[in-house]
Amino acid sequence: MTLPPDAVSDLSIAADAAQAVNPWVALAYLASGVLFILALRGLSNPATSRRGNRFGMAGMLIAVVTTLITHDIAGLPEILAAIAIGGAIGFVIARRIAMTAMPQLVAAFHSLVGLAAVLVAAAALLNPGAFGILGLDGNILVVSRVEMALGAAIGAITFSGSVIAFAKLNGNMSGAPILLPARHAINLGTLVAILGMTAAYALAPNAGPGEGWLFWAIVAAAFVIGFLLIIPIGGADMPVVVSMLNSYSGWAAAAMGFTLHNTAMIVTGALVGSSGAILSYIMCRAMNRSFISVIAGGFGADAAAAGGEPKEQRPYKQGSAADAAFMLEQAEKVIIIPGYGMAVAQAQHALREMADMLKEKGVEVKYAIHPVAGRMPGHMNVLLAEANVPYDEVFELEDINSEFATADVAFVIGANDVVNPAAKTDKSSPIYGMPVFDVDKAKQVFFIKRSMGGVGYAGVDNDVFYMDQTMMLLADAKKMVEEIVKALD
Ligand code: NDP
Repeated sequence: MTLPPDAVSDLSIAADAAQAVNPWVALAYLASGVLFILALRGLSNPATSRRGNRFGMAGMLIAVVTTLITHDIAGLPEILAAIAIGGAIGFVIARRIAMTAMPQLVAAFHSLVGLAAVLVAAAALLNPGAFGILGLDGNILVVSRVEMALGAAIGAITFSGSVIAFAKLNGNMSGAPILLPARHAINLGTLVAILGMTAAYALAPNAGPGEGWLFWAIVAAAFVIGFLLIIPIGGADMPVVVSMLNSYSGWAAAAMGFTLHNTAMIVTGALVGSSGAILSYIMCRAMNRSFISVIAGGFGADAAAAGGEPKEQRPYKQGSAADAAFMLEQAEKVIIIPGYGMAVAQAQHALREMADMLKEKGVEVKYAIHPVAGRMPGHMNVLLAEANVPYDEVFELEDINSEFATADVAFVIGANDVVNPAAKTDKSSPIYGMPVFDVDKAKQVFFIKRSMGGVGYAGVDNDVFYMDQTMMLLADAKKMVEEIVKALD
């Protein structure tokens, strides 16, 4: 297509202006980038996480203000109104959200990042002049077409994948893997088609404003692949998926940063993308899962591993709060293993009180945190920090697992999958291969859960319930611990 000469010169000026780098802007974006790195560093430890959050907020404020004051903004009131509305919604959600619902909230947020990337790319397609990406021949620059296509594709995958992750975590659809026949061939074919269409779009002779059926075909295929990649993932692999989608959302934002010529967005997107990928990798290692298998969409999952077989009722020992208090007082060393049920019951404050009383009585108390305990990375650390449990009493799996052999009591409160020996012995179990706490090596195991019928996230029975040294404490975790505290008094 051809444009009138004055339009062409306007557009090339816009493109030049967009490429020009103002040193103050570069400095401000550098400062926000450094603050984001400090934020990530702070967030890696519960003791420094609040400070990390503040660094992140300051970095974002600098980036947003710099962008607003250094660009020729056509609709500042609309932008401020959107920030106010979005901020108010975020404030209300943050105040109201239960800690147990955080994973689905995070998945929902990722879906918005993905959708935003698609919308930015679509806006660039419809009005490339405003983005400074229109070439002198009236076509969108080839490099920008590649950025837009890849950014929109990653954004669309993030969007539909996150919607499915949300639905699975929120209970709107079954958390079990949905395994389509020939799914790997379908996924691979769709990915190859996306890359092929990206190349075809980059080389298309007519790629002016709004000209891009290939662009929309790429977006549609990416929506489908996001859906296909996440439906086969289930059970214990969901935490990895959430952090993987976090990574995707970062790469989508980085790609859009190129389209918008915004260094801060490129840097922030790359930080989110790489930290999410590293977290996914660390979690895969913690769960003994292959990273490639999980990102390839449940590769290796099979129908047999998709759920637990209901077992017949087996004999078990049940105790009371008074029994537990008596035995805890006699113990020299107690290791507490918190899990999802502690979060549901909000038992962390009562638990800290119980631990304080035991310490006063000369008992050594330690907390053992599994990397996937609860329903989000760091879930247990956050709850224990909220209850002011000293950080030096909290240990990671690899640092404490050998100590169960010397513990008098393994005090399991609302955990199940992370202490299930089936992960070591039962190849058909959905959690097979995940490292678990060796609670069965402790002299006694106390298990707080509400009923024998309830199962953990992976939906499988736990042999530890029925061992000789195990005492089941069947009640809501907070209520049971409060009763133990009364009995210790
Ligand atoms: P589980 O989900 O395996 O077990 C939770 C236990 O808590 C159940 O035994 C349940 O039994 C009990 N429970 C629930 N509510 C209460 C209550 N109010 N009082 C007392 N007990 C209660 O938890 P784990 O922490 O051991 O394992 C986490 C699982 O979640 C893993 O499979 C992990 O892969 C998965 N996951 C982890 C994510 C993460 O990022 N950390 C994200 C998504 C999934 P009952 O109902 O009988 O009370």
